[in-house]
Amino acid sequence: MAQMYRLGLIGYPLEHSLSPRLHQAALRACGLEGEYRLYPVPPSPDCKTALVGLLEQLRRGELAGLNVTIPHKQRVLPLLDELSQAAQAIGAANTILLRDGRLRGENTDAAGFLSDLKRQMGRNTISETPEALVLGAGGAARAVVFALARDNWRVWVAARRREQAEELVSAMRGREYEIAALSLNAPALAELIAHRRITLLVNATPVGMTPLADVSPWPEGVGLPQLAFVYDLVYNPAETPLLQAAKRAGLANANGLGMLIDQAARAFELWTGCLPARQALEQAVQDKP
Ligand code: NAP
Repeated sequence: MAQMYRLGLIGYPLEHSLSPRLHQAALRACGLEGEYRLYPVPPSPDCKTALVGLLEQLRRGELAGLNVTIPHKQRVLPLLDELSQAAQAIGAANTILLRDGRLRGENTDAAGFLSDLKRQMGRNTISETPEALVLGAGGAARAVVFALARDNWRVWVAARRREQAEELVSAMRGREYEIAALSLNAPALAELIAHRRITLLVNATPVGMTPLADVSPWPEGVGLPQLAFVYDLVYNPAETPLLQAAKRAGLANANGLGMLIDQAARAFELWTGCLPARQALEQAVQDKP
């Protein structure tokens, strides 16, 4: 009998998640039997019991794979038996599977970001040690910084609480990465772009996403770096104020929908061994619900 892939997503809230559409399309594209369910687990003092219960279903083979999203990406780490190098460095797991009887945490956000970035930048990719500026220092920023640093970018991380950017830099210390922290404010960014050749600007804050859909994370009065490709992790709305400003400045740009698709495709491949055709996943998120 064909294997039935019972997959799902743990997080809270989950009503607007595009993951079921992506993974159901992936099952169809790979010709596999299965389902992808939502497991909403509100963050409460006893949510660990619910998380352990779902992980035990994975351990017993009743589930074939789980995604994890906000607010549990960090919380699941101590409940797992092993972590991939990316999950360990980033300090968060977004994908869990059973490998050789052990619960393994992976993080596909980093690889998903990098593969989409390269696809989007295309001929804009430059060959010498490139320099990137990442806005924000939360969970997504960690994945982005890890991916860029491993790809030999020099990375500047700007956060409104500079100490958060410094924590991110120390978390990546010990590796041969070139990462530095600064404050996310007009004088610090103006100074940086006056002296460095920034060829990539990434927004890894929620600024630009509802309820901040009218706001840009880039401070007023400072021009965008003139050579930068602008990548906004936010994809709802499709064109954020930052991307509108990039467009006005004639800068190539992309939103985060491609990253969402690529991280899902990689998670699906880890669970099933099949990398779904990208076009099928693109179609799934373009179709109206
Ligand atoms: P997070 O862990 O909460 O981190 C958010 C970061 O943005 C923090 O550094 C936070 O600083 C900063 N920030 C929040 N509001 C800000 C503001 N008004 N001005 C300046 N900085 C602000 O969130 P996350 O998980 O990293 O997610 C960040 C964004 O990326 C979200 O919009 C998320 O939807 C998106 N994302 C997209 C993908 C994708 O596949 N495209 C994947 C992951 C995440 P404080 O700590 O000081 O608030």
